[in-house]
Amino acid sequence: MAEPQMSDGFEPSSTLTCPQCGHRSKDLMPTDACQYFYDCKGCGALLKPLPGDCCVYCSFGDVKCPPIQMGDCCGG
Ligand SMILES: [Zn+2]
Repeated sequence: MAEPQMSDGFEPSSTLTCPQCGHRSKDLMPTDACQYFYDCKGCGALLKPLPGDCCVYCSFGDVKCPPIQMGDCCGG
């Protein structure tokens, strides 16, 4: 029987790594919505989630987005 994970260990920010230029940027994630588009601060590329991922943090970040961390994905 697994305990549901609440705020324990919740990480509100994620470090995104641009797949095109390798620029890394730590950003605070919105907790009420998924961020689908992201402008790389290094090269200006418009990043989009990979197929199967709901947001750019899931695809390129080192931390999954808040809905995923809380076990409740926004996408459905
Ligand atoms: Zn970039």
